[in-house]
Amino acid sequence: MDVTLNRISPEDRKNPPESMNGVVFGSVFSNHMFSMVWDDGIGWHDAEIKPYQPLVLDPSTLVFHYGQSSFEGLKAYRNPSGGINLFRPRENFARMNRTAQRMCLPELDIEFVLGALKQLLQEDSNWVPQEEGTSLYIRPTKIAIEEALGLKVSSRFLFYIILSPVGPYYPEGFNPVKIVVSDQYVRASPGGVGEAKTAGNYAASNLAEKEAKAEGFTQVLWLDAVERKYIEEVGSMNIFFVIDDEIVTPQLNGSILPGITRKSVLELARHWNLKISERRISMEEVQEGLKSGQVSEVFGAGTAAVISPVGQLHYRGDSFQVGDGSTGPVAKRFFEHLTAIQYGREEDPFGWVETL
Ligand SMILES: *Cc1c(COP(=O)(O)O)cnc(C)c1O
Repeated sequence: MDVTLNRISPEDRKNPPESMNGVVFGSVFSNHMFSMVWDDGIGWHDAEIKPYQPLVLDPSTLVFHYGQSSFEGLKAYRNPSGGINLFRPRENFARMNRTAQRMCLPELDIEFVLGALKQLLQEDSNWVPQEEGTSLYIRPTKIAIEEALGLKVSSRFLFYIILSPVGPYYPEGFNPVKIVVSDQYVRASPGGVGEAKTAGNYAASNLAEKEAKAEGFTQVLWLDAVERKYIEEVGSMNIFFVIDDEIVTPQLNGSILPGITRKSVLELARHWNLKISERRISMEEVQEGLKSGQVSEVFGAGTAAVISPVGQLHYRGDSFQVGDGSTGPVAKRFFEHLTAIQYGREEDPFGWVETL
């Protein structure tokens, strides 16, 4: 399948922001988007790069009512020679295909969509910002677009990719965030869709996150749905603990989103011969460890924030400071090396980076 190119007209062409300073994450979009349509019996068709524009959809469109959808998030980085780096992009499209299986969505040909993404990035290459710590956030999205109110699996889908230049995800930047542990609400349960990157998971998290923000916390730390005892993850990040001399993260159990940053942190740790384990971690263990000092660091890992140190945990009315409340050496080391690899400032021994 060829990708049709329909360039924006010179009079509609916008310029990227001069500086990313003060630009809210995900609020500005580039000149072009990629899209294609799936019909049962036909497959993907009408692949095109076209001006960024609104979707026109019938009010009965399935995705609005039943949420059959999937999204991804990855970034393009400006490298020192002025080129563009992508970080493990095949992992995102492979995960999108796993989400597709769980959500009854059609899968993508990974090499085809990666090629289309690169073509889109070439068109809008001036939208990859230059400033330190900035990048072009890439949002592939797939939605059910059959027009029908009857509950069913759609026979028609839209896949698109949009691009948004971004600075740091949290206003705190690479500074410790305050997180509240929710024991009232759950995000995902065994047998559910927690490991799929699908819209409903975030809708299910909104109330807890709204309440957390009102109380001055940045995010919610979710516990398992059955016992409300074991740590799962944060709203948009996986979570790591430094316990004694070991780096510990909850093992993937079906309700945790399998993060690519999580995977990269584990692979880097293995490469550095650090002690790591993926296992169940109870909130009780963390609480005790924070009191005794055995838990010296807590940090989140995800594409948007990369590594986000946690300075304070709040659980059942008690506040626990992590270490001295500042960014720890382990979080700092992962942040520095991951970003150095992503931006091409450091050699990539893993073959993670793809340069355009
Ligand atoms: C996307 C996401 C992550 C992080 O995944 P990355 O691939 O590292 O960006 C973690 N948890 C949730 C719930 C997510 O949606």
